[in-house]
Amino acid sequence: MKKEQILNGNVYLEVSMGDIVMQKDMDAIANAANAFLRVGGGVAGAIHKAAGPELEKEAMTKGPINPGQAVITKAYNLPNKHVIHVLGPVYDRDIPHDKLLADCYSNALDLCEKHQLTSIAFPAISTGVFGYPVEEAAPVALKAIYAKMPVLNSVKRIRLVIFNERDYDSHIKALKEL
Ligand code: ADP
Repeated sequence: MKKEQILNGNVYLEVSMGDIVMQKDMDAIANAANAFLRVGGGVAGAIHKAAGPELEKEAMTKGPINPGQAVITKAYNLPNKHVIHVLGPVYDRDIPHDKLLADCYSNALDLCEKHQLTSIAFPAISTGVFGYPVEEAAPVALKAIYAKMPVLNSVKRIRLVIFNERDYDSHIKALKEL
């Protein structure tokens, strides 16, 4: 599998090609959720399908959420302990989209720390239906994560899981520019 990683302090940041529901070695995965924490399509559809119907039941009790916000649930039939649901900004609507996107990653990492998790995998939030151009979203995501790495205690490994080759190349470019 294609991947590249860097170390900042005691924490590894990895960019890999793959499917967010196949991250067996991660404590948590992030879901690119909708405000009401309903099943939806894209990443959310794949995550809810793999987790089973109990995920939506629990998640919906935690909504609605605002852009940039993160909430945690159990992971049910997924191979992880938790799912951290974040609401990415809709590119043309939720302003400032770069701050709100950075908040998604930062708030998700805060929840990992609060729950003493050691690892989390993220998809490229907002780059699907929410319309954030991937070449703009990739540096925002990687910079937000990188800035947070020195203050993490329990989290040791962070992975961005990218679904296709073109988006992967954008993220590797942003990783190298950190
Ligand atoms: P958003 O609504 O936040 O834009 P989407 O789910 O529409 O979220 O898409 C976010 C990104 O996740 C897109 O780049 C899409 O290609 C990618 N993606 C879709 N399915 C998966 C998956 N199973 N694993 C990882 N990434 C995925």
